[in-house]
Amino acid sequence: MDGLFSRNPGSDMDDKFSFRDIVELAQDVIIVTLAEPLDPPGPVIVYVNPAFTKLTGYTYEEAMGQNPRILQGLATDHETTHKIRAGLNKNEPIHVAIQNYTKDGKTYWLDLSIMPLRNRDGKVSHFVAIERDVSVQKVLQQQLAEQAERDPLTGLYNRRRFFEKTALSWNAYVESKEAFAILDFDIDFFKSVNDTYGHDTGDIVLQHIAHLLQSVCTEEDLVARIGGEEFSMILSHVTLEQALNVAERIRTTIENTPINLPSGPLKVTISIGIAVVDPRDKTTDSVLKRADLALYQSKHSGRNRSTLLPIEPHKI
Ligand code: GH3
Ligand code: MG
Ligand code: MG
Repeated sequence: MDGLFSRNPGSDMDDKFSFRDIVELAQDVIIVTLAEPLDPPGPVIVYVNPAFTKLTGYTYEEAMGQNPRILQGLATDHETTHKIRAGLNKNEPIHVAIQNYTKDGKTYWLDLSIMPLRNRDGKVSHFVAIERDVSVQKVLQQQLAEQAERDPLTGLYNRRRFFEKTALSWNAYVESKEAFAILDFDIDFFKSVNDTYGHDTGDIVLQHIAHLLQSVCTEEDLVARIGGEEFSMILSHVTLEQALNVAERIRTTIENTPINLPSGPLKVTISIGIAVVDPRDKTTDSVLKRADLALYQSKHSGRNRSTLLPIEPHKI
């Protein structure tokens, strides 16, 4: 560590620099542990650089003799810690992202590389971890991932997320017969809302309906804006009767909750199509199509109504 390095070993001191200086000045955290024992109390920390203290709050003295698990906590992913442990066992280099904790309990995300260091006999004597705080990037990454599945106008999930959830619900149904229902919603005569009150008011109506739909969903349900003035909902663990009850509650609430505009209250209605997964469904597509057809029937039988379409025996 104290060794000096020079490109020209015979030259004077000005040409030389110290690896210790590099390690101590680095913005990245550097931790060195003994390679053995790996089990507690090991791997024992034998060196940390000043960047470690700056990030974690533990002084050099506090860190010595501890093991890096002092930095882990509830949010630390077990799969990642197992991956680290497996790499250490095999003396292989490791590169992971992991959530760690400061001394006073604040979490941060690390980009973490661990390399085995070998002694003159070729035996692994130490591990060196080089870590970079990537919390800011991680938050941005999470925000981007969140935005990628949200509709910006209403804040609801988008079409893509809806179909992902539909696939998950279908798998849960196939594996453990957890029934689910698909509800399709389409605002009635929405074009005339835009034409009469303007597009901005149309947007307010969309937000109003979105808020209302979201309010009936439990954690296991999902509602998404599928297109312009069309929404879809997945209700988990419901019977035909329960799905129809939820739909009717939504429909009547919308009908009876006018939107307060500066020009006065505006009443809108919505048409609903419902399908509940049936043992005779071969794919999730047939459930989606049934909900779509049910919505079409609600529209064509006068709007402001809910239609539940049972599976048709001749289509099996
Ligand atoms: P129906 O009862 O048959 O559903 O009639 P409708 O007028 O609701 O149906 P249509 O599909 O003809 O109209 C949908 C309208 O939704 C047309 C489009 O201008 C409007 N729309 C789509 N996206 C948006 C949006 O983001 N904001 C607003 N304000 N309007 C939108
Ligand atoms: Mg429409
Ligand atoms: Mg419409």
